Amino acid sequence: MSAIKCVGILTSGGDAPGMNAAIRAVTRSAIYNGMRVKGIYRGYKGLILDEIEEFKTQNVSNIIQRGGTILKTARCTEFRTPEGRKQAYDKLQEHGIDALIAIGGDGTLTGARIFAQEFNFPIVGLPGTIDNDLYGTDTTIGYDTALNTIMECVDKIRDTATSHDRLFFVEVMGRDAGFLALNGAIASGAEAAIIPEISLEKDQLAEMIETGFRKSKNSSIVLVAESEVTGGAMGVAERVKKEYPQFDVRVSILGHLQRGGSPSAQDRILATRMGIAAIDALLDDQRNVMIGIQNDQIVYVPFAKAIKNDKPINRDLLNTLRVSSI
Ligand code: ATP
Repeated sequence: MSAIKCVGILTSGGDAPGMNAAIRAVTRSAIYNGMRVKGIYRGYKGLILDEIEEFKTQNVSNIIQRGGTILKTARCTEFRTPEGRKQAYDKLQEHGIDALIAIGGDGTLTGARIFAQEFNFPIVGLPGTIDNDLYGTDTTIGYDTALNTIMECVDKIRDTATSHDRLFFVEVMGRDAGFLALNGAIASGAEAAIIPEISLEKDQLAEMIETGFRKSKNSSIVLVAESEVTGGAMGVAERVKKEYPQFDVRVSILGHLQRGGSPSAQDRILATRMGIAAIDALLDDQRNVMIGIQNDQIVYVPFAKAIKNDKPINRDLLNTLRVSSI
């Protein structure tokens, strides 16, 4: 019998499609294994402010198909201070919560790691972010849905781009990672991607124009990862206007619509597997790990590893895009 009787669950940082499927799986697996579950609203903020409610299995009915997070999410500056984290710890004690499942990105897991060490408190993290930028997992909850959304948007932009012989720069999310831009470009048949991982190595824009990427085509779409390093789609378009004025340039910033929508089958399945694995991890006496997936197998990744390392882009994909877009 596990020493853990009651788990708290929260979502924090940026929302991602599939978070609800994860909340559902964690709740049901905990109950299945004889534990109580408490839903904590608005991430670490709601923990400090005592926005906590007991969850039964029906609290998570009919949510697997919904985007966003029923637990809401927030950024919380107080949790970055020892005083704030002490308040959070006191609330967990008050509610009899003896382990925590935190769903979120890099920041959420960084906070979880600090808290777990400070109070010797068991936490298991789930990678919930559309950016796919967490080390130790092949993919994150929300990434596949966001990729599909980008693909659908670019398909639509292509209709207008071809009608006008235009060069479109489409900006996608990703924080400082180019996974959405690179795979989004391959999936939508875009001509190129400008991603931060390569920005410091070479001038991706100049290379694209010099290799004559537009010669055989009457329109072009380039996906640009949002990032200070790439300059974003606006930055790239400004450069083209100055340096290559022959092009008729347009910019489209996809923005928050990339976070929304019903999760894809892949994200629902991933979130469900990871949610159940999180409870299994606690039962298995695992502490302070993120659940990851590698080659379709669930793995435990120590927080320190998931947070500290930069996840490398698969460089074969650069060639895939280059060859498929001639
Ligand atoms: P996304 O990648 O989708 O933006 P995220 O989890 O990285 O999600 P952040 O806003 O970076 O989002 O972090 C979420 C919350 O985690 C912060 O608001 C804060 O409460 C907590 N957090 C982040 N970094 C730290 C830290 N160094 N110490 C304590 N808490 C932190």
